[in-house]
Amino acid sequence: MITNKVMKKRTKPLILKKYELLLPRLHINFPRLPDMQHEYNKRKKGYKGELQVDYHLETLPPEFTILQDVCLQVQGRTFQMDNLVITQQAIYIVDVKNYNGTIIFDTTFDQFTRDDGKVEMGFSHPITQVELQQSNLQQWLLERNLPNIPIYYFIAISDPSTIIKVEGDKEIIAKVVAHGANIPKKIMDVNTQLASGATFQNRKMGHAISKESTEFDMDIMTMHGIKSADLLPGVECPDCGVLGIKRVHSGWKCYKCKKKFRDAHKPALAAYLLFVTPWITNSECMRFLKFNAKNVATRLLREYGLFYDEGRRRWIEK
Ligand SMILES: [Zn+2]
Repeated sequence: MITNKVMKKRTKPLILKKYELLLPRLHINFPRLPDMQHEYNKRKKGYKGELQVDYHLETLPPEFTILQDVCLQVQGRTFQMDNLVITQQAIYIVDVKNYNGTIIFDTTFDQFTRDDGKVEMGFSHPITQVELQQSNLQQWLLERNLPNIPIYYFIAISDPSTIIKVEGDKEIIAKVVAHGANIPKKIMDVNTQLASGATFQNRKMGHAISKESTEFDMDIMTMHGIKSADLLPGVECPDCGVLGIKRVHSGWKCYKCKKKFRDAHKPALAAYLLFVTPWITNSECMRFLKFNAKNVATRLLREYGLFYDEGRRRWIEK
C-alpha cells in the first residue's frame, strides 16, 4: 500500500519569507513600501490558494505521484510550476490562479479580462502562461532523454467564489479551466481515456524531476530598489512587532508589550545575512542587534550556527 503519493511537499515560498524579514526593517515612509506590501499580500494570497488546491489534488488515487512547487532550469531559463501530477499515462501541470470576483475568457479575441476590467493579453493570459510551462517541461524531459510522456495542463481557480465566464467557445475553456475542487475529476477523465495506451514509471519520473527542482528565488532588494543601508537595525518583537527591543540577561525584552523572548534575534540575523552580506562581524552584530557585549555577540552567532573565519575575523554560514 503506497501512502506517500505527495513526493514533493509545498513549503512556505522563500520569496514570502524574504518579504517577512524585510518589511519590518523599512522606515514607515520608505517610498516603495506600499508597492512592496501590495506584492507581499498578493503572493501571500497566492500561497493560500495553492494550499487550498493541494487539499483537492491530494484526493487523487494514491498511485499517482504529486510534486508541489517545482522549479526547473531549461536552456538557462527558470520555470516554475505549482503542481505536477504524474501518472503511468501522463503528466498533468496544474497551475493555480487566485482571482477576486469575475474572470472572463474571450475565445474569439484570445483575451482574458479580470473583474477590474483590465484586459490581459500575451504573457499575462493564464493559458499562454501554462502553455509555456508545458513546452519548457517538454524540452526539459527531452534534454534528459526521459520518455516522451504526454503533458496536459489545467488552470485551477483557487477561490471557490470566483465566477468564471466565457465569451465564445465555452467547451475549449472548460476543458482546462476549473475551480480547484473540480480539477481531480478532470485529471481522472483524461487519464482514464489514456489507460489503454503506453505506460510510464511515474515514481521514477517523479524522483528525476524532484531531484533537480530548486527553490524559486528572486532578488527582491533590486526589484524594489532597496539598498542594504535602508534596512533599519534592531531586534523585532515577535509579539507586537516593534523594532529595537532590549537585550537582557539570556534573552530580549520588549519595551512596549513587556514580554520576554529567548530567540528574537534570529530573524534579524537572517535578514542581515540575506540582505546585507552573507557574513557578519562581531561589531556589525552588535550594531545591527543594538547591544554592546562582544562575548554575547560571539555566543549568539555561534548558537545561530555560523562559523568563525579566523583570517578574515568574521562569521560565515556553512
Ligand atoms: Zn512587544
